[in-house]
Amino acid sequence: DVPRGWYRRVLLKLSGEVFGGGAIGVDPDVVASIARQIAEVVAEGTQVAIVVGGGNFFRGAELSQRGMARDRADYMGMLGTVMNCLALQDFLEKAGVPTRVQTAIAMGQVAEPYIPRRAERHLEKGRVVIFGAGAGMPYFSTDTVAVQRALEISCEVLLMGKNGVDGVYDADPKLVSTARKFDEISYDEVLSRGLKVADSTAFTMCKDNGLPIVVFSLADGNIARAVRGEAIGTRVGA
Ligand code: UDP
Repeated sequence: DVPRGWYRRVLLKLSGEVFGGGAIGVDPDVVASIARQIAEVVAEGTQVAIVVGGGNFFRGAELSQRGMARDRADYMGMLGTVMNCLALQDFLEKAGVPTRVQTAIAMGQVAEPYIPRRAERHLEKGRVVIFGAGAGMPYFSTDTVAVQRALEISCEVLLMGKNGVDGVYDADPKLVSTARKFDEISYDEVLSRGLKVADSTAFTMCKDNGLPIVVFSLADGNIARAVRGEAIGTRVGA
């Protein structure tokens, strides 16, 4: 078991942006470095489930603004997440971590279907479970799916690893030089200040179900710090 104060089971949300290193497609060096960070915490005994985004390939809303039907564009977005899942699976296994990919759209050659109780069993055996294809439904986001999966498989916290930003600020730190970072903030204050932590559906689900969120930068070593419960980034809770 893990030491006191460390999280025992976490849901890590990785947006597609992370996989591309800011560009379209997958940057293997970036994925390898994230996989090594995840391997470290798995070795320490924490159970890690991951929801992967797909914005490095397609975002349905953007494609629909340029003339595509929203639902079909969203399916393209979901399929993009699966490519990220496979890249992460590959580098996790190279780092010695057994993994399973489960997708919300059936694709038996590359992944298991989403079966929550089986996912929990994998986690108990020390396997990392990577969830792909979002919810399998247009008009949802992978942030929302991350919250849903975290709740369904009883994760203690939603870890939102970011590229470039290291927490929740009272203003956009890229635009306002005096922007101040919160170490901790309540759900209510996020709403009353109009801050953006995740999309609104995802955030509301966290608030309604009391799932804490830690927003932090994926700079090296930070996944382990977040899992150990160290004060890193911003913790959002009740
Ligand atoms: N998507 C969807 N349903 C879902 C999850 C994702 O339709 O349950 C589509 C949607 O088009 C979205 C794209 O997949 O824009 C990529 O997911 P997301 O934008 O959440 O990825 P991220 O921003 O985390 O990279």
